[in-house]
Amino acid sequence: MRLEVEPRRLRFRAPLATAFGTLEEREILAVTVRDRDGVVGVGEAAPLQAYDGVGLAAVRAQVEGCADVLGAGDDQPLAALRAACRGRCPLPQARAALDVALWDLEARRRGLPLASVLAQRPAEAVVVNATIGATDPEAAARAAAEAAGAGFRCVKVKVGLGDDAGRLAAVRAAVGDRVAIRIDANGAWSVDEAVTALRALAPTGIELCEEPARGGAAIRAVRAALAGAVPVALDESAREPGALATGAADAVCLKVAGCGGIGDLLRDAATARAAGADVYLASTFDGPAGIAGGLHAAAALRVARPSGLATLALFEDVEDPFPPVDGVIPLPRAPGLGLP
Ligand SMILES: [Mg+2]
Repeated sequence: MRLEVEPRRLRFRAPLATAFGTLEEREILAVTVRDRDGVVGVGEAAPLQAYDGVGLAAVRAQVEGCADVLGAGDDQPLAALRAACRGRCPLPQARAALDVALWDLEARRRGLPLASVLAQRPAEAVVVNATIGATDPEAAARAAAEAAGAGFRCVKVKVGLGDDAGRLAAVRAAVGDRVAIRIDANGAWSVDEAVTALRALAPTGIELCEEPARGGAAIRAVRAALAGAVPVALDESAREPGALATGAADAVCLKVAGCGGIGDLLRDAATARAAGADVYLASTFDGPAGIAGGLHAAAALRVARPSGLATLALFEDVEDPFPPVDGVIPLPRAPGLGLP
């Protein structure tokens, strides 16, 4: 089986402000595995150094370190190959790239959409939120109105960035009462700051706040103080060992790359659900293959809360293979991930 790794640069249409900095572009690695019959599987490594502290070169070295395992792997079961690659890749982003590529290959060999390989009764579509990148209240309101007009029933707004109350009030005024507003602080607040901010924002009607503070224990404290006024979700802190099993949050955001692949994501989702949390998916602004992996995993899990997988339209040079329609992304029916 042959491995190909190719860097790709994706530029955002407009700079995207977050609590960890402003993003202008993404550099990702497109990963392809090709078996001796010419069947391919594609995956992607999309570390985001400002966010996860992981650089592309380190991920690339680990992915390419699996070339010999794959080279000798044509006659091996794909589950064994996935496990062998996992053992070679300490970085979850590297593990996920190869894991998704090998799942894609397996589903293409079987002639089934990946979600149908992962689950007996996958959902036919995945509910998604729109992501509002602007921090300026007027621009955020315009983007939110556009999203509502396109049929999204949930918009996601970054907070911990200056005048959060003004931005959220403008967004609420723009979308009316029928669209949910999800906010994401990316861990920017202390427990006290989060409680104060969220109590003040609660009357705006917040679906949930992702990562209001940093760490499972801090988020549990925020949740207890708010007593349901604003539900809270683990995102970055979901990676903390043991955090998913503690029931620290109302919901948990999982990412294929963060979990280290689809198999590990399905396991983490089961752990979070058993602890009473809702599960939804997102990515760190991945390219098409990363988004596709998330869509199939979300469909296999029959995720009901909106997932943050409608982000390909934020890039100016990517043709979106999975355009959302009325706030949902229909699952591609072609074999594998559904990419060409
Ligand atoms: Mg988040």
